[in-house]
Amino acid sequence: NVPMFEGRPLEGVQHKYADTVLLFPDAGQTCHCHCSFCFRWSQFVNMKEEKFGCQDISRFYQYVAEHENITDVLLTGGDPMVLSASRLAELVNPLISNEKFRHVRNLRFGTKALGFWPYRFISDKDSDQLLRLFERASVAGKHVAFMAHFNHPRELETTAVQTAIGRILSTGAVIRTQGPILAHINDSAAVWRELWEKQLALGLLPYYMFMERDTGARDYFAVPIARALEIYRQSLRGLSGLARTVRGPVMSTTPGKIEVLGVVNLGNQRYFSLRFLRARQERWEHRQFLANYSPTARWIDELTPALNEGKFFFDESEPAVTPIRRSVINSVLGNERFS
Ligand SMILES: *Cc1c(COP(=O)(O)O)cnc(C)c1O
Repeated sequence: NVPMFEGRPLEGVQHKYADTVLLFPDAGQTCHCHCSFCFRWSQFVNMKEEKFGCQDISRFYQYVAEHENITDVLLTGGDPMVLSASRLAELVNPLISNEKFRHVRNLRFGTKALGFWPYRFISDKDSDQLLRLFERASVAGKHVAFMAHFNHPRELETTAVQTAIGRILSTGAVIRTQGPILAHINDSAAVWRELWEKQLALGLLPYYMFMERDTGARDYFAVPIARALEIYRQSLRGLSGLARTVRGPVMSTTPGKIEVLGVVNLGNQRYFSLRFLRARQERWEHRQFLANYSPTARWIDELTPALNEGKFFFDESEPAVTPIRRSVINSVLGNERFS
């Protein structure tokens, strides 16, 4: 998803869906803590070629200025909240104040800091400076959105996280939540219902429930699509409509973000009904399609198209779903198992 710009790849940037560009600040290629289910794990294993940070920020600005269809800039990583407030301000200030970036209406921060280090927004030495940055962006007319990663309602129980949420919301920013469904951690409807109820009570907006990607530890963490769908549906029971802003289960695949809508029975056959929420080809967005039901499939590449259509419509022009980098895993784990 790295865009080409002036004949060269724009390193540390991804631009897959026209409206949203992802910036991986060079100093933000780490996290407050390392999740063993993280799909970005390869950036944290001290292998230089696996790092993905933007080192030439001026080219990034130039790219955004020249692409007026970009409405959203998403700072991600790693976790951008490991950056100092002054470094973040340096990155964000031009987007807020320069007329060239009028078309950038939304600033998103993909972060797990609320769960891991809520003190980032309370008592770090530059916490107040950080909050002032969000406030300045809001006052300047930008929508500031925290895309906060949570996996379990326990992460929302401390006074610290609740204080941090209150402080962030007081700047005018909005907090939307997302996270993967994981075996051994949150593969139950009761856990998700409680998570979303707590989020609603605290003023957070549930956004995405993701399927676990093909990471090294996938066999341990992945939940089958059929099971995830059942958990999603059951967790909505009794849940206020105000928290049903969440879309799930969603697979973020190479051709696009695929939402599993449900199971349909036609004749004697069962199918998954799916649709693209976002797609690499804009014309695919919101297109629905059917796959044969499977109780065990965990990802789109383990599903087959309905009605003996040899391949899914989006397979035409797409490479197969990115294969996991076996060689990298082997060199990290020194383990034959993945070869
Ligand atoms: C999910 C995602 C986005 C944002 O999609 P929204 O539906 O607007 O939240 C942008 N870029 C990439 C690569 C994504 O995976």
